[in-house]
Amino acid sequence: MTCLVVRAGGSRVFPHWKALFAELMPELEVREWDDPTLDPARIDYALVWQPEPGRLAAMPNLRAILSVAAGVEHVVCDPSWSRAIPLIRMGEEETRGQMADYVLWAVLSLLRDAPRWQAAQAAGQWVRRERPPLLSSEMRVGIMGLGSLGRAVARRLTAAGFDVLGWSRTEHTIEGVSCFWGESQRAAFVAECHVLVCLLPETEQTRGLITYELLEQLRQPSGLVNVARGPIVVEADLLRALEEGILHGAVLDVFDHEPLPSDSRLWHAPRVMVTPHVASEASRPARARQVVQTIRALERGEAVPLRYDPALGY
Ligand code: NAP
Repeated sequence: MTCLVVRAGGSRVFPHWKALFAELMPELEVREWDDPTLDPARIDYALVWQPEPGRLAAMPNLRAILSVAAGVEHVVCDPSWSRAIPLIRMGEEETRGQMADYVLWAVLSLLRDAPRWQAAQAAGQWVRRERPPLLSSEMRVGIMGLGSLGRAVARRLTAAGFDVLGWSRTEHTIEGVSCFWGESQRAAFVAECHVLVCLLPETEQTRGLITYELLEQLRQPSGLVNVARGPIVVEADLLRALEEGILHGAVLDVFDHEPLPSDSRLWHAPRVMVTPHVASEASRPARARQVVQTIRALERGEAVPLRYDPALGY
């Protein structure tokens, strides 16, 4: 019997995972991560969030690692497991739909100065606007990262009438989106955008990519939406750009340290909206469906989408 071990949400939610898999794939044996009676050699697949370093390497017959999250740093930070084992990211329709909804909300919030009105309301102040807002068709939104989520966001923003641009590592063609790629086209891309939406993976190449100098190149009024990972943005540079007014507003869902420490200056930075890493969290049933589809495809010997590439780091 094919065996899946689960480390996602703890003992409290394990019965829910078990019930979901029992319905979707009754022939799958589903075991809890810390079950002392489970022989590691029995495990074929591991569904994980932040597995303790060394544990995956101790499963000699592991066929694939399934991340419960779209990001995989929580698995990749453990150098001990064999990179020949496929590592699959989460990224089914619900993950894409939620991310597209969040980014549409964030971009509309920046378009209509929501961070400013929120601060004025909290202070009980009736303030006047500084300038008439742009129309959505006038606002140029640049998506950094045109992967599974970036493309879904691009479709939603173009459908909502925004002028959408995108930047990726390799060349893409997406209907209705002006596409840029590679380091050599990054400056030209940024200079065309009012708002940047960060949907890059965190890698050696992307860490610290969004600096004061980059934010300074945006068109005014400018904005930033970070829904990828905190370390891609240099936090001190972001604060400086906000305080100096170079950056008109920001919607931030991810941070260097999560939960965002109570003494972080970002909580009270001007024209910032903070959300607690909630942009896209697919339901357990949706994640279970993707896991079953993936296991079935791997069992048939098929290639599966959303596979982490160790050479690229994402
Ligand atoms: P993905 O499918 O791997 O796409 C990554 C995109 O980034 C690709 O278009 C890739 O270019 C581009 N890219 C990678 N390195 C680059 C570089 N050095 N320069 C330029 N472009 C680069 O990832 P995804 O599934 O869309 O997810 C994106 C990120 O969203 C995840 O890594 C995760 O951190 C974050 N996320 C956040 C939440 C949340 O709730 N806040 C939820 C889910 C995911 P190519 O297309 O050329 O390869």
